[in-house]
Amino acid sequence: MTQNGQTYSTATRTHAAQALTREVVGATFRLRTYRLLRKILVGFILVSIANVLFSYFFYTPKMYRINRDNRELVIKYRILQDRIRTAQRRVDEIRHRDNYVYRSLFSTDTLSVPGVWQPYPDTKYASMAQDDYSSLMVPTWRQLDALARTIYLESVSLDELQLLSKNKEKLSAAVPAIWPIDRSALHNNYIGAFNPRRMHPIYHRIIAHKGIDLGCDRGTEVYATGDATVLKTDMGQARRGYGQQILLDHEFGYQTRYAHLSRILVQPGEKVVRGQVIGLTGNTGGSTAPHLHYEVIHKGTPVNPVHYFNRNMSAEEYDKLMEEMRETNFETL
Ligand SMILES: [Zn+2]
Repeated sequence: MTQNGQTYSTATRTHAAQALTREVVGATFRLRTYRLLRKILVGFILVSIANVLFSYFFYTPKMYRINRDNRELVIKYRILQDRIRTAQRRVDEIRHRDNYVYRSLFSTDTLSVPGVWQPYPDTKYASMAQDDYSSLMVPTWRQLDALARTIYLESVSLDELQLLSKNKEKLSAAVPAIWPIDRSALHNNYIGAFNPRRMHPIYHRIIAHKGIDLGCDRGTEVYATGDATVLKTDMGQARRGYGQQILLDHEFGYQTRYAHLSRILVQPGEKVVRGQVIGLTGNTGGSTAPHLHYEVIHKGTPVNPVHYFNRNMSAEEYDKLMEEMRETNFETL
């Protein structure tokens, strides 16, 4: 029994020892696994922190690429701006030549399209305002829009010139270019000046004098100053306004007016040629003495008729004329 017991006891002890050993080994294994997991976890956290810190202070390769691309984009934008500036300069040169060479050949004014120089409102560029590079993009778009406006204006202008050159002979016959009465008929060389800012002698306020006044006898012949169509004739009112008047349409934007007449010798719609007698001077309407009030209107704006006489005047004659010009005292208009 003892033997058996001992045997049993030994066997039991051995069994217990084995169980204990397994337990110890198992615990050790779990502990190792746990430590390993902890190491991995700590390692992972450390790497993450290092990564965040690194990307905070240094560029990651991807960031580096994006940054480099952005820098290249900025440079390309600046090159683009430069090219637009160059194109703008070229268009400006063409415009200058148009205004000072071509247009002066046809004695026509600089073309203006209303609103063409008005920059677009900021709202047009609102979609770009939130962009990081808006300070680069918005001015570039503005430059491009300005260029487009100039090109548009220039194309309209050149179309007009093309038409003028086709009709050059017709134009030179139509432009008002001679004196509307014989110069020898002028009284004491009296010419009342064109003055858009005239202070009226009776009304004491600024009322434009839209033409020139040529002092002469009643009944002096009045000439059409260029080929034209009679736009209207008007008997006018007594003691005020233009009195009896003729308005001619010369095309190419020119009209001429002859006022205070004593007789009208043409009908509306009639074609007249330069130098043709169209009426006789008088003292009708708001006029204080016989004279011819003569206007040249270009595209709706009265211009100084004297500038249209220089075709048959020398430079000295022109200067003398400008000196002699005085404030008109012929009209109560
Ligand atoms: Zn007048």
